[in-house]
Amino acid sequence: MKTLKNKLNPEIPAGRVEQTSYRDLDRACVERLGQLYRGVAPPERLKAMENLPTRFVVRAEFEREYRTISGQKPNPEVLGCSQGLEGPALVSMESPQLVPEITMHERVHQLSDPRAAQLLGGQRYEGVTQDLALKALDKTPAAGEASGYPEQRASAHELRELCGDQAVEKVYFQGEPSELKACLDRALGDGRAEQFRKTMRTPA
Ligand SMILES: [Zn+2]
Repeated sequence: MKTLKNKLNPEIPAGRVEQTSYRDLDRACVERLGQLYRGVAPPERLKAMENLPTRFVVRAEFEREYRTISGQKPNPEVLGCSQGLEGPALVSMESPQLVPEITMHERVHQLSDPRAAQLLGGQRYEGVTQDLALKALDKTPAAGEASGYPEQRASAHELRELCGDQAVEKVYFQGEPSELKACLDRALGDGRAEQFRKTMRTPA
């Protein structure tokens, strides 16, 4: 476990980027997600991810490729991009200290069920992605710490605390919302549950 943690937190000095370290980091992310979600996520998705190494690129190339994929210029704060299992995830290397978090975030996206974004709603889908990425990295953002999607992540974390990891994982990795819906039904009258019910598209 120690070795894996070291790989996930490589000491990469800014300005001296070593591609091999990033490749190890990327492999460690996939390995970690395999440990956590084998038996939850379909094995063929995990296998497909292994065969799609993330591409670490400089900013100019990231912007060029992002435009090709989405037709738009990325906002400056966007540092990663994935297209499901259609192609490799892209991670911009401009902020080396954020590369582990961005890489894990994009890898979590790749493992998600194609229905998850629609079931959870786009913002909550991003929040759950980031929450699961930080969980996989054994990280908890301190108050004020820069981290992707802070509000969405905090809300997703509350949802996980309210209904448990399994209910959230079933929606996210299997597109199966019944357990989460049952939890929110049980929690009727709880203000937080009401908020979650309003913003989720689980079947009535
Ligand atoms: Zn994302």
